[in-house]
Amino acid sequence: MIPKYIEHIGIAVKNIESAIKYYESVFGMKCYAIEEVKEQKVKTAFFKVGETKIELLETTDPDGPIGKFIEKKGEGIHHIAFAVDNIQDSLNTIENNGVTLIDRTPRKGAEKLDIAFLHPKSTFGVLTEICEKK
Ligand code: ZN
Repeated sequence: MIPKYIEHIGIAVKNIESAIKYYESVFGMKCYAIEEVKEQKVKTAFFKVGETKIELLETTDPDGPIGKFIEKKGEGIHHIAFAVDNIQDSLNTIENNGVTLIDRTPRKGAEKLDIAFLHPKSTFGVLTEICEKK
């Protein structure tokens, strides 16, 4: 299980419209998708930088995971996501290496990806996502 590339970097923001404007005006990047993920209580916006995406995350509910994150830590990098070939095999391998998983089986994320999170207490403080394009 070697990640193929960094699929995306998730960034928690208070106001997604302002953050989109920043990436578009300062970097000339183009937001190509805005998607709400109801189960995660987030609105997402995507930019491409080569193979890697920037995923902006704004909470739709103060009690959602991004709402709580911003309350605790403020805006900033929320997670890093690695693209893998077989997400369930990868999760098994990672767990066998003693890493605590948040998701033992994949769930649906934005951008038609199957995703799963590893617990930051096992990953040197980095909330780590692995994902597979279906
Ligand atoms: Zn993500």
